Amino acid sequence: LGGGGDFYDIAFKVMLVGDSGVGKTCLLMRFKDGAFLAGTFISTVGIDFRNKVLDVDGMKVKLQMWDTAGQERFRSVTHAYYRDAHALLLLYDVTNKASFDNIQAWLTEIHDYAQHDVVLMLLANKVDSAHEPAVKREDGEKLAKEYGLPFMETSAKTGLNVDLAFTAIAKELMQRSMKVPSEPGFQLHDYVKREGQGASCCRP
Ligand code: GDP
Ligand code: MG
Repeated sequence: LGGGGDFYDIAFKVMLVGDSGVGKTCLLMRFKDGAFLAGTFISTVGIDFRNKVLDVDGMKVKLQMWDTAGQERFRSVTHAYYRDAHALLLLYDVTNKASFDNIQAWLTEIHDYAQHDVVLMLLANKVDSAHEPAVKREDGEKLAKEYGLPFMETSAKTGLNVDLAFTAIAKELMQRSMKVPSEPGFQLHDYVKREGQGASCCRP
């Protein structure tokens, strides 16, 4: 399967959403290229995608990662993409309270436009700052618990939990697609809790 030199067994679409400036593009670049360009603000126009093939338990899992622009004026573009997304990474910036306050609005939008069984994870990005964050970890955990979402703190700058977040999503998607209905499958919540540095998650 696959083409253009990248071979894979199974492919999924993962979309990154959240306010403009929370670090979606940087997180994706960190994951894809292992790099962080300090101070650069790469403005994403509408939607953009990057692929990466991961090895998950002996399978080649291709993630097609869609990077969206959070600006209101592009909303009509991204709505169409929600329907095709197998997973969503919803980000806020711990140094920006407004981006956290807007998570509810993003969840409403996800509820309205995404597949009802979409795999969703909440990420608190930019935890690398030496300063007291504008959004406390407990507040993120509380919100995640309220909505039954796995929750992780990440940093595109240091790379904290970045690979882990995408790997967890890939594992969950792969297990879901292969699972025999009666068998217990991969548990995203437990995996995140076990593997994440400073990660936590909650069941509703
Ligand atoms: P997007 O609009 O959500 O795609 O945000 P960008 O990825 O363009 O990042 C916006 C700004 O935040 C840029 O100046 C980045 O350098 C910065 N940034 C992104 N991720 C991090 C992070 O993890 N830590 C810190 N300190 N800055 C970050
Ligand atoms: Mg961007």
